Amino acid sequence: MDTERTTAPIKPVRASSRKPLQRLSPAIVEQVERLLGGRTRDIRFNGELALLFRERSWPRTAKIIRAWMVWVIVLDVLTLGLNAVLLPTETVMSMLWPASILPPAALVASIAFLRPHALWVQGVFILSAVFLILLSVALVGVNTGGEFYERHLNIMLFVAVTAIIIFPVPLGWAMAIGATALGIYLVFQLRNPDIKAGSALAGTLFFASGVAATVVARRTATIFAQKTFLLELRDRSRLAELTDANSQLELLARTDPLTGVANRRSMMETLHYFWSEDLKRTSGAAMLMCDIDDFKHLNDNLGHAEGDRCLVKVAGIIQSSMRDERDQVARYGGEEFLVFLPGSDEQEAGVIAERIRSRVEAASLPNPTSRVGPWVTVSIGVAILMQNSGLVSAEHMQRQADAALYLAKKTGRNCVVVHASEVGQASG
Ligand code: GH3
Ligand code: MG
Ligand code: MG
Repeated sequence: MDTERTTAPIKPVRASSRKPLQRLSPAIVEQVERLLGGRTRDIRFNGELALLFRERSWPRTAKIIRAWMVWVIVLDVLTLGLNAVLLPTETVMSMLWPASILPPAALVASIAFLRPHALWVQGVFILSAVFLILLSVALVGVNTGGEFYERHLNIMLFVAVTAIIIFPVPLGWAMAIGATALGIYLVFQLRNPDIKAGSALAGTLFFASGVAATVVARRTATIFAQKTFLLELRDRSRLAELTDANSQLELLARTDPLTGVANRRSMMETLHYFWSEDLKRTSGAAMLMCDIDDFKHLNDNLGHAEGDRCLVKVAGIIQSSMRDERDQVARYGGEEFLVFLPGSDEQEAGVIAERIRSRVEAASLPNPTSRVGPWVTVSIGVAILMQNSGLVSAEHMQRQADAALYLAKKTGRNCVVVHASEVGQASG
């Protein structure tokens, strides 16, 4: 069919209207597919994808970091309290000032992670807090000396390892935490009067292998979290595609394929919705049944294709005669169009019907053997629903419009007839 279609606004089905999904850009969708298609260990995030991942994982990351900071404070205070009970006052006093570095540092970091900041700001907060915390733990031992010296350096490494394992942070940060801890360990062990430099170095290397293993474990955990995120994005994009296809199908199911105006099913939905929801609120409505005069003649004389083109043009004229998007035009049958005008009274409906009739006539579409004249014309039956006449059903109103149309055909076609219980009035 080479006919052009009318672009008519089809009213959405209100009952099934859904909140639109947040769309992913095609570049992201392509990146997601590419990463999921490759090896898991090669997953790397950058640009927009990295930003999306950070946004998505921020609440969890912040919660973990805050919880860790709070626990470190609690343990610091508890250990100090316990030492105060079990150890001589002198020893406890030497632990006091180094141990007091930890709580404020951890507190500042945990407050900083209440709100999202730029990545570098987060990095500065977390790395400086961890540095101060590790230093605090190490200094407690160094300042106290004796058995506490090495023990606290080991505790410091343990604290660093827990941070590396549980902080879902970029690999670089995890490596920085590991390097800081090993650096502190080495520096203080080299100054340890009880061991030689070689032993300090050997101990550092031994612990370095352990720290490296935790950094690798952190990287693996991050990659798995990223893969889960990619799968989630893929689901989201597929759901969005499905939703699009569904809306397209819904639209097609309510559109007349030839003319592009609504089809009968869509009109039924509009009428049903109006009668169940809007009727109480609006001041009546009008229905126009428009039927092309002697259309069979047009088909017989000019061919079915020309008949189709005529239908498209008439649909376009009717659509362009509407007041606004409240009104709905539907192709009701072969060459019949039903128009629904909510809130319209008899006078307004009459004006709109007459506008359609005169515009179709003025379009001078050929129908050489029509009994009305050589041009395409339409007859229109109008039914009016008065305000507060809630008892009248949509079917009843259609029957009235049909009856008025029948009268219009009898009256000589190319005219508008308004249905009235007692008086049928004709114009045109
Ligand atoms: P009246 O003035 O009384 O309405 O006469 P009419 O010829 O218009 O009415 P009738 O019901 O006799 O004929 C309707 C014609 O519409 C018959 C049918 O072939 C034609 N028709 C129905 N659907 C289509 C369509 O999609 N395309 C075309 N080209 N013709 C159609
Ligand atoms: Mg007909
Ligand atoms: Mg007809």
